[in-house]
Amino acid sequence: MPVALKHIEEEQVVRCAWCLHEFEVYVDVTAGLEQTYMEECQVCSRPNVLHVHIDPETLAVSIDVEPEG
Ligand SMILES: [Zn+2]
Repeated sequence: MPVALKHIEEEQVVRCAWCLHEFEVYVDVTAGLEQTYMEECQVCSRPNVLHVHIDPETLAVSIDVEPEG
């Protein structure tokens, strides 16, 4: 069995595709191993599309960021 979920939300730091500043997002690891959603940059407020990948065994989270539109 995979590692037990310690918590539901995983705090991650991503880099804005627009202004390149880093900001924190919270990934709901129970929402699926592949997730895509939009998050506004906390610095410049422009929309970023986050592609979240969660390793099913280690639950390691990786996030690809691309600009919306
Ligand atoms: Zn930004």
